[in-house]
Amino acid sequence: MKIWLDGGLKDIETARVSVFDHGLTVGDGIFETVKAVDGRLFALTRHLDRLTRSALGLGLPAPDHDEVRRACAAVLEANPMPLGRLRITYTGGQGPLGSDRGEHGPTLVVALGETSRRPDSTAVVTVPWTRNERGALTGLKTTSYAENVVALARAHEHGASEALFANTVGQLCEGTGSNVFVVLDGEIHTPPVASGCLAGITRALTVEWTGAKETDLPLDVLERADEVFLTSTLRDVQAVHRVDDRELPGAPGPVTAKAMRIFEERSGDDLDP
Ligand code: PLP
Repeated sequence: MKIWLDGGLKDIETARVSVFDHGLTVGDGIFETVKAVDGRLFALTRHLDRLTRSALGLGLPAPDHDEVRRACAAVLEANPMPLGRLRITYTGGQGPLGSDRGEHGPTLVVALGETSRRPDSTAVVTVPWTRNERGALTGLKTTSYAENVVALARAHEHGASEALFANTVGQLCEGTGSNVFVVLDGEIHTPPVASGCLAGITRALTVEWTGAKETDLPLDVLERADEVFLTSTLRDVQAVHRVDDRELPGAPGPVTAKAMRIFEERSGDDLDP
């Protein structure tokens, strides 16, 4: 397995970053996960734009898109696989042991892992912890994912593959690595970005292609929604068949099934050459 680090391809066994890299010591970093289908990347330009927004939000220098594209192409070519998750990590680089950034430039790592198609439907749980819709990091795709790790472990304990958060005012927000949609009276709704959720790329395409509405939704909408589904780079559009103890028999329901179909048909257009 070859990865990109420090301006070139390296063998995964020998590639090393500093133990004082701020991505490791203080979680000072950002990332993107991009779907790779037969060596082609899905929506790369959108991912690079979000990477830049996250970098600027964190006060890191804007990443050089040409370099990141070169790195992605080299990693894809070196590791052929039918379906992969390409991970771009960009950190503050080596720094002092405290939170102050050092003089060192950022670290860029691009790696690729094999993945498989997700099942058409899944179970989710809600968690008692909240997303902060007004935090310094809200909306940034930072490497500080420990809260998501904890919530996902809770989901796995309950036989679910995703955990859903409300925000601090009790509105439905997002999952640990996905956005959430509900169907009410035949209409599709998803929380607005102001709820504190990540501006998911799959979410944006789903809103554009299905006409879903961005609506403030109380968390208990999950107790009455006719259908629920998730979106993310690795899930695409995925139906939910259980929320906590509530079964949603027949998932994917008709509206979700249509959204899944539309996404599958349209997403072929967004593969970057
Ligand atoms: N929300 C969070 C917290 C995420 O980490 C992700 C993706 O990793 C998403 C939503 C979905 O975003 P995208 O569709 O861009 O993968």
